[in-house]
Amino acid sequence: MSILKLRCKFCGYWNRVPVNKVLVEQDSPEPKVKAYIPMYEPLEVVKCKKCGKIIAEPKELIRILRVE
Ligand SMILES: [Zn+2]
Repeated sequence: MSILKLRCKFCGYWNRVPVNKVLVEQDSPEPKVKAYIPMYEPLEVVKCKKCGKIIAEPKELIRILRVE
């Protein structure tokens, strides 16, 4: 598990989000070459500590940014 710093898109507050790192296969024009991009899967629904809006959900992968 990692902690991701995720900026609230509504108010700009930086929140900490527990995530799992996952590698997602990316479509490539060359079928023999597989490209993977690292993404982060939130472990729980996270609400912004400042404005209370939902900023991360387990079903929505995050593409990143910054990890501690
Ligand atoms: Zn917010």
